Amino acid sequence: MDVLHSQLNNIQRRLAFVATDPIDWKFYVQAFSWSVTLFESYLLLRQYPLYSKKAPPPALASHFTPSAFEKSQKYGKDKAKFALFSGLYKQCLDSLMLHYGFYAWSWSTAGQLLGRFGYGTEYEIPHSILFVFILFWLSSIPTLPLSIYQTFVLEEKHGFNKTTPQLFVTDLFKGWGLAFVLGAPFLAAFLYIFRWAGDRFVPWLMAFMISFQLIMVVLYPTVIQPLFNKLSPLPEGELRGRIEALAGKLSFPLKHLYEIDGSKRSSHSNAYFFGLPWSKHIVIFDTLITQSSPPEVEAVLAHELGHWYHLHPSKMLLVSQLHIFTILALFPAFLHAPPLLRSFDFPKATAASPPTIVAFLLFQMILTPVEAVMSIGMNALSRKFEWEADRFAVELKGRLEAKGVEAKGMEDMGERLGRALVALHVKNLSTVWVDWLYVSFRSSSPSY
Ligand SMILES: [Zn+2]
Repeated sequence: MDVLHSQLNNIQRRLAFVATDPIDWKFYVQAFSWSVTLFESYLLLRQYPLYSKKAPPPALASHFTPSAFEKSQKYGKDKAKFALFSGLYKQCLDSLMLHYGFYAWSWSTAGQLLGRFGYGTEYEIPHSILFVFILFWLSSIPTLPLSIYQTFVLEEKHGFNKTTPQLFVTDLFKGWGLAFVLGAPFLAAFLYIFRWAGDRFVPWLMAFMISFQLIMVVLYPTVIQPLFNKLSPLPEGELRGRIEALAGKLSFPLKHLYEIDGSKRSSHSNAYFFGLPWSKHIVIFDTLITQSSPPEVEAVLAHELGHWYHLHPSKMLLVSQLHIFTILALFPAFLHAPPLLRSFDFPKATAASPPTIVAFLLFQMILTPVEAVMSIGMNALSRKFEWEADRFAVELKGRLEAKGVEAKGMEDMGERLGRALVALHVKNLSTVWVDWLYVSFRSSSPSY
């Protein structure tokens, strides 16, 4: 632990200027975030003309009817226009909020509200929770029209939307309720650890974050997801038999096999698994079951189990721990930095002893460029994982036989997967022509 702390102290010494130099952080954040948004817009504009092509690439030509191809091009075009507009709109909002000192305003408003209930500013944790909720709530309202448009105009127009206005509203309130029920205790514990551990908060917060993530792995399927969707056990039959046999052959610790009513909101389809190492759940969208035959769904599951076999979720978790560690290791330099708060319009009195949550939030904004690079790396990693999972399904027969497991009828797994994926691609009207630069930065799944 002492080695860790002396290294962390080194980093802090190098960043000591943050606490003293009057740097115009707000200007940098504006400049960085605009650069990221403009670059993303440029990628969308590069991709845009491809939606005007009249025919699919030769490899896919036999799978697309002319009308399906035309539909996919139109859908892609509408999605690209929407992405371009919403990206710029959100950036303008963020930029205005920064310019007019929205963060400082939220902090003082939270303080005044708390004061009305007879609590002074010495109650930093309730003050911080209130601050985060004011911020979260007020900044989510202007983006609400975007999700309404996306659901009821964009997706509706292309025949994917199944969400009713009533469902949309209940989802929204459930989402807010959940954010409060989970967010408030999380934030309270997070801030309490800071206060309690002092300068040695890094290992303690890491331990806390990992525990929280593991608790969510258990809570999500059992408590959270049933609030939004109905999971019912997959009925006995060919599909269930095939999946159980496949899981058995691979020694996948299958605990429950569910069908989820994804069709309640959208006709896009999917399948996934989750759970702790010794007890996994597989969830298949009802839309996938109706769109593909049992042998094809089995092949999609073979791909999913490829993710499990190659430990992809654990690898992702590890990367996210390293990411959190880096953030926490750099943070102390920004924790006691009055000039940081001053540059974001906080009054002198608040800036003199910066509240942890405020410093953390501003620090996150300063990290925008690092996060942008990070997300490019994450997308590349996730494309690699998708490729590995496909390969796993293709080579499944050979793998099983090498272990002496009987694998009759699995020789065409790759072919079935190909058929299923192309069918999903066509049914979901996914984009067919892709710009190479757009793929490298934006896409997390490989293109065909
Ligand atoms: Zn996958």
